[in-house]
Amino acid sequence: ELKLSNIAVGYQGIPVVQEANFRIVEGQIGCLLGPSGCGKSTLLRAIAGFEPLMAGEITLDNELLSSATKTVSPEKRSIGMVFQDIALFPHLTIGANIAFGLKGWSKKDASARIDYLLQLVGLSGYKDRYPHSLSGGQQQRIALARAIAPKPKLLLMDEPFSGLDAKLREELVPDIRAILQHEKVSAILVTHDQAEAFAMADQVAIMESGRILQVGTPYEIYHEPVSRFAAMFIGQGD
Ligand code: ATP
Ligand code: MG
Repeated sequence: ELKLSNIAVGYQGIPVVQEANFRIVEGQIGCLLGPSGCGKSTLLRAIAGFEPLMAGEITLDNELLSSATKTVSPEKRSIGMVFQDIALFPHLTIGANIAFGLKGWSKKDASARIDYLLQLVGLSGYKDRYPHSLSGGQQQRIALARAIAPKPKLLLMDEPFSGLDAKLREELVPDIRAILQHEKVSAILVTHDQAEAFAMADQVAIMESGRILQVGTPYEIYHEPVSRFAAMFIGQGD
């Protein structure tokens, strides 16, 4: 379980995220939904351990990861990440890209894990190919496979679909949700796209100007938006 308790994050002493509370229970997919500049990436980077907290606490399975006085380094957090600009290593094969996250594993176990993941993301047989020979959507599937390969406790995704065209996105979003659910991976998706948030998430947090305005299931948020802003943001307002 990931828990953000009253956290503040900022730059040069000026908070851009304030009083943020959010919780993701194991196996659930959460989403931070809000317009450009509202602080989604900042919040995600704080969860990953790249930004220190100005206030509050982040815990994962009751282990303190961040507070105003403590920051566990990103590589010690058991957190996987997928970003918009896919960034597979271009000079490594697909197999070697996925193996990158499996450093402590035996050759045999790593190889079995890679085969399993390639099948899971629908790209069996792509192991020896290079990233440039894959489409954007296929590369994003590989980025997902690489991120979940070491079985992280939490997966963070920052606008992973925004570089893809609408048709591809429509196809990829339910697929990725199914993969995460099948693997029981807890995840947080950052997006400014309401349809994407509702299609992916169990819990959605609506953000505006560095604050979380409302947290709820897609159903709750759609039917009972707490503010005019939330209503406008999900297309229910005037
Ligand atoms: P987008 O949807 O455009 O990616 P976002 O919701 O992810 O936006 P953030 O990138 O978290 O927003 O930015 C929140 C605020 O913090 C913005 O005002 C931004 O200018 C500021 N900010 C982000 N990164 C830094 C930084 N490294 N130094 C100073 N200010 C920053
Ligand atoms: Mg961002």
